[in-house]
Formats: sequence, C-alpha cells, structure tokens
Amino acid sequence: VIPRGAGTNFVGGVVPSKGGIVVDLTGMNRILEISPADLRCTVEAGVVHAKLESELAKHGLFWPPDPGSSDACTMGGVIAMNAGGMRALKYGTTRDWVLGLKVVLPNGEIIRTGSRTLKGNAGYDLTRLFVGSEGTLGIITEATLKLRPIPEAENRISAYFESIEKAGEAVSKIYMAGIVPASIELMDRSVIAAVSKWLGKKFPDMDAYLIVSVDGSRSEVEATASKVEQVLRESGASQVLRATTQEEFNEIWTIRSEGATALPNVTGKMNVTHDVCVPISKLPEAFKTIREICDRYGIPVAILSHAGDGNVHAIFSVNLNDPEESARAKRAHDEMCRYVIRIGGTISGEHGIGIDKAELLAEEVGPAAMALMRAIKGLIDPNNIMNPGKMGV
Ligand SMILES: Cc1cc2nc3c(=O)[nH]c(=O)nc-3n(C[C@H](O)[C@H](O)[C@H](O)COP(=O)(O)OP(=O)(O)OC[C@H]3O[C@@H](n4cnc5c(N)ncnc54)[C@H](O)[C@@H]3O)c2cc1C
Repeated sequence: VIPRGAGTNFVGGVVPSKGGIVVDLTGMNRILEISPADLRCTVEAGVVHAKLESELAKHGLFWPPDPGSSDACTMGGVIAMNAGGMRALKYGTTRDWVLGLKVVLPNGEIIRTGSRTLKGNAGYDLTRLFVGSEGTLGIITEATLKLRPIPEAENRISAYFESIEKAGEAVSKIYMAGIVPASIELMDRSVIAAVSKWLGKKFPDMDAYLIVSVDGSRSEVEATASKVEQVLRESGASQVLRATTQEEFNEIWTIRSEGATALPNVTGKMNVTHDVCVPISKLPEAFKTIREICDRYGIPVAILSHAGDGNVHAIFSVNLNDPEESARAKRAHDEMCRYVIRIGGTISGEHGIGIDKAELLAEEVGPAAMALMRAIKGLIDPNNIMNPGKMGV
C-alpha cells in the first residue's frame, strides 16, 4: 500500500517498487477548520500546501514550513516527508509545526496522535514518529497544525562573492553577529550562469550569490537588514543590495526562483537534485569537497543551498538514458553522502530517504539505531504492507 500525495518527492518515495496498491490522497482536500483564536487549523491529507497558505493568509496567519513545491505538494506528503523549506533556519521544519494526526494503521485501526492544544505531553510522542515516516507506518488522513501570525514586514539583502567558500563563511558570521534571519539562500556560479543564459540577462561573473531574508516588525526588519548588510560587506561581499522597493525585493529573488528551471534547459540534461546537510561551520569545506567529488567523477554539479541551516542541494546534471553516466553519478552521490557523514552532517536535510538513500541510512545512524527503526516498523506493520522497500526498514 503506497500512500501518494502529489508525487513531488525526490527520493522515489511513491514508486511501487514491489508492486501493490497506490492510494491517491488528493481527493481528501478539505480544510476542516481554521481557528485564529487557538492558533491552529485542521486539514485533510490531500490539501495542497499553497491552497492552505492562501486560506490562512485571509486570517493574517501562516504555517511556517515552505517547501519550494508549495503549488503542488499535499499536506499529507509534506508531513510524511517532514518537509523543510527556506524558512527552516528560523522556524524549524514540519515536525515543529504539527500538533496531532489522524492515521489509518496497517491493520485498519484508526488512531489520533498528539493533541489539539498548543502544548501536549501525554505519553510517547507518536506524532513526531509519524511525521517523516514516508508512508511506511500508516496513512495520514488528517492533521492539526500550529500557526503563527504573518510577520508585519519582510526584506531581502543580496550579495555576490568571488568564492563560494567566502559565502559559506559569511553565513556563520551572520549568526555570530547575533542575527537569526528568516532564510539564507545560496546559488553558485553554475546556477547564476544558467539563469543568465536562460533569461538572456547579464549577472555578475562571480562564484556565489547569497540572499538573506529577514522578517518581523517594521523597525526590527529595518535594524536587522542594516546589520546583515554590514556583516556581508565585512565578509568580503561585493554588490550588496538591500531592497528598497517591491521591484528590487522581487528582482533579488530571480536567480533563486529560476535556477532549477534554467539548469536542465541550458545543460540539456536532467536535474538530479541531491540533499545533504552539514554543520554551518563546515559549509565552506563542504562546498569545496562536493565540487571536487563531482569533478573527479566528471559529473557537472550546481549548488543551490538553504545555506542558513547548512542544507546543501547538489544538483547533478545527468543523462539518465546513459547507464554508464547514471552509474557514475550514483557513485559520486554515495561518496558525497559518506563524506557528509564523516564531517558530522546528515545524508538528508529535508528530502528524506525513500529508495534513493535506503542503503546509506544504516551508515549514518549505525546498526543499533537501524535495528530499532526496523523493530518499530515490524511492530506497527508486521506484514510489511506499507510502502515496502523504502527507508531501509
Ligand atoms: C520543485 C520542487 C521543490 C521542492 N522543494 C522542497 C523544499 O524546499 N523542501 C522540502 O523539504 N522538499 C521539497 N521538495 C520535495 C517534495 O516536494 C516534498 O517532499 C513534499 O513534501 C512532498 O509532497 P507530495 O504531496 O508531493 O508527496 P509525495 O511525493 O506524493 O509522497 C512523499 C512520501 O510521503 C508518503 N505520503 C504521501 N502522502 C501520505 C499520507 N497521506 N500518509 C502517509 N504517507 C504519505 C508517500 O508514500 C511518499 O513516501 C521539492 C520538490 C520539488 C519538485
């Protein structure tokens, strides 16, 4: 039984690799409740993320996790993948924003986990177990979510760096200056060049482009944006721009928003998006090493990173119709994951494990933790009917 939302995950999570029944949840698409007085809402699994966002905005509220696939992905998929997004560095990921769930277990029983209150401390935290379980433990049909008022103001500051390592160092310097922005996004030379070619627009010939977003009250945003600007300049950035008009605010985001579309159109190959996460202080080293690994395997790589939380998306350009090239790309991927584990990072910041990383998970968590995960899976799903072959369980 393979639960399916919009099928936007990057790890083969809804591929029925062992056959079975694919259960399409998109028909369960009702927003059951929005309660501003309780700072919560309750949704069915098939509600599209962007639809929820626009309905919440009518009440001046938002649900912070903001995956880039918002226009398509379903809340069931977001919860089952513990999705992150740009704002994760300030607000956390999905797991931090789910109060309770309704889940159909593999034996057909229906349970409710968690609570409908902003705090809950009754028994084991089953909600956090089902969040990120990738369809392997049951079907999530309903979720109660914690909300926040939309911040009064937001601004963006952008900067170019002559080396990606320097851009990585700037991220740590922002934190050391006592600033926690809403997001810090980084695009490398390959992304900048691809967008430039794709849009027929000239951007500076630099190794990295950083966008820092800040939110809060108007005065807070003004003060924080000035501090960010100063830190970026002191970190060796050039062409630092703080948006002063809506047009500049939108313009700053162009390389970020067009990057993933521009790359395959310019390279003529598929984007294979990989997701690892490292401690922020290791970002400069990780950028350099990931490029070196890909160079060695002859796989072109573009880096598009939620740098603020150490999350690196290494986008490999691969001709998937060429078995030799695909196998080489897989070896580069596995070496990158093993390197990341060695430096204290994780093989997935937000995209999950699925089929793609099923074999690597044990290398990160170790045999005892892996055995415990398999025991939990065996207890809840003794016949292994839920999304078999995923997550290495
Ligand atoms: C352009 C693009 C940008 C993206 N940006 C981000 C990003 O910024 N951050 C991020 O974290 N991810 C991102 N993703 C990955 C993906 O969109 C997310 O993982 C998303 O949460 C998946 O939702 P979905 O509805 O498509 O789920 P699906 O792909 O349909 O399913 C994902 C997994 O969840 C399980 N599942 C689905 N619904 C249920 C349910 N109701 N109950 C139990 N299990 C279920 C499936 O079996 C599968 O294992 C991006 C993807 C794309 C294509």
